Amino acid sequence: MDTKYIFVTGGVVSSLGKGIISSSLACLLKARGYRVTIQKFDPYINIDPGTLNPYEHGECYVTVDGHEADLDLGHYERFTDIQTTRANNVTTGRIYRSVIRKERKGEYLGKTVQIIPHITDEIKRNVKALGLSGNYDFVITEIGGTVGDIESLPYLESVRQLRWEMGRDALCIHLTYVPYIKAAKELKTKPTQHSVKQLQEVGIQPDILVLRTEKHIDTAMRRKIALFCNVSPDAVVQSIDVPSIYFVPVAMHEQHLDEIVLSKTDVPKPWGEPHMEPWMDFLHRMESARETVTIGLVGKYVELQDAYKSINESLFQASTYNDHRLNLVYIHSEKLTEENVDEKLRDMDGVIIAPGFGHRGVDGKFVALHWCREHDVPTFGICLGMQCMVIEYARNVLGLADANTAEIDERTPHNVIDLMEEQKSVTEKGGTMRLGAYDCNLRPDSLAARAYGKTEVRERHRHRFEFNEKYRADFEAAGMQCVGENPVTHLVEVVEVPGKRWYMGTQYHPEYSSTVLHPHPLFLSFVKAAIAYHDERTMVDGPAADEKKQN
Ligand code: GLN
Repeated sequence: MDTKYIFVTGGVVSSLGKGIISSSLACLLKARGYRVTIQKFDPYINIDPGTLNPYEHGECYVTVDGHEADLDLGHYERFTDIQTTRANNVTTGRIYRSVIRKERKGEYLGKTVQIIPHITDEIKRNVKALGLSGNYDFVITEIGGTVGDIESLPYLESVRQLRWEMGRDALCIHLTYVPYIKAAKELKTKPTQHSVKQLQEVGIQPDILVLRTEKHIDTAMRRKIALFCNVSPDAVVQSIDVPSIYFVPVAMHEQHLDEIVLSKTDVPKPWGEPHMEPWMDFLHRMESARETVTIGLVGKYVELQDAYKSINESLFQASTYNDHRLNLVYIHSEKLTEENVDEKLRDMDGVIIAPGFGHRGVDGKFVALHWCREHDVPTFGICLGMQCMVIEYARNVLGLADANTAEIDERTPHNVIDLMEEQKSVTEKGGTMRLGAYDCNLRPDSLAARAYGKTEVRERHRHRFEFNEKYRADFEAAGMQCVGENPVTHLVEVVEVPGKRWYMGTQYHPEYSSTVLHPHPLFLSFVKAAIAYHDERTMVDGPAADEKKQN
């Protein structure tokens, strides 16, 4: 079968969830046995989102090959279990950089370099690159932004050309919004009509419409939209609000989105049925869970929940597989002080200390960690969270009152966390950290090894600073063990304090590799410990105390 290309565009407003629709379709096609990948084209000029503040664009996701990527790639992986790479996320910045490099090398043979055909050709080359590898039956390409944006135009022009060249091997799914006007008690189709018109103006006729809506869109309205938009009525699908994004693949399958795609791209029959049993088991657990586990997430970007997207999802998946609902409490590290820490953390069954950069909010992380360690609350420090764990231990157990990371205090006499040697000469900010997957060997008797069920793991990184080897023996003598290290460089990857209920820090980011079908072992183990701690406390305080807390 020739590779089929599915383009997903969006109209009316942004944030409708193109990533979730693309992921859901990929999930269904994969469950039918097809080889699928998803890529995202982002119309901004940044080379990658690595230099973007999380407030701008949410979390920066990291692929195994060390690309700092859009957070939608996280959805792709969580929904499909496929691993993405730098080829799965392209920005306008990268397209222009590559065209300009070619121009400098003289590759355009004296021609004037223009948006059409040079930029569009470069976009098309990137769209087809994954398909040409021969590894995929379907390449789903999500075009970032909204139809009508100036930035999206070269992408839409490329889609137009590709559809012309590929015929029935390509199709376009357009995601729009159907607002419900409360005063009129009516759903309105006009914005969708306009958005499809805009797409038609640039030469693209969508094959399938997915309508985001809060209320059910009946058949009559779907027919009306189909008629106005030149789309067949059975190819108008609604995407109504659901309690969890993980219901979306099922909702899409119920409306035959996967079959419409197979039929429109002439995929030979028989298609069979998607094997969704493990996915359904996950949804079933999610719906039948009655008990709640409360996890506090201490970080500085808590106002924007997308900033910790992968951590949220990992915790949610781990809670579901532990048959619990997740009550995730965001705790602003900048507002956490010695005075209020007890009040803020005492109801937590477990605490996550978030990754981050810079000094803002770190003092709150130290306060939280001190409290958690003294109260023996299950605690998980991730990246900067792990580094703070080490610093807090140095200050309060090793007695090095001025211990710090060189990131915050370059002149600290006790740089228990310091810049990696190879980072010292780096001047450029973008893409220069220790990025992507590296091996880590775990001590067989460690909590981490028990959680993973093995001693050799490979996890993704995104950091510049590291545990300072000089202090390793002092930490170990004082109780904090370095239980995971890189087999080649011996950089410390995991620290633990044995004897505690669950106290672990990882220099790497396990959250990037937790998926619906393969939840991450460390999150499973951490949440399990949090549940055990909750039950222990309920037992001591009596069920009445727990009930009171819930109310
Ligand atoms: N700022 C720290 C470093 O660069 C931690 C990074 C992170 O938490 N991702 O090492």
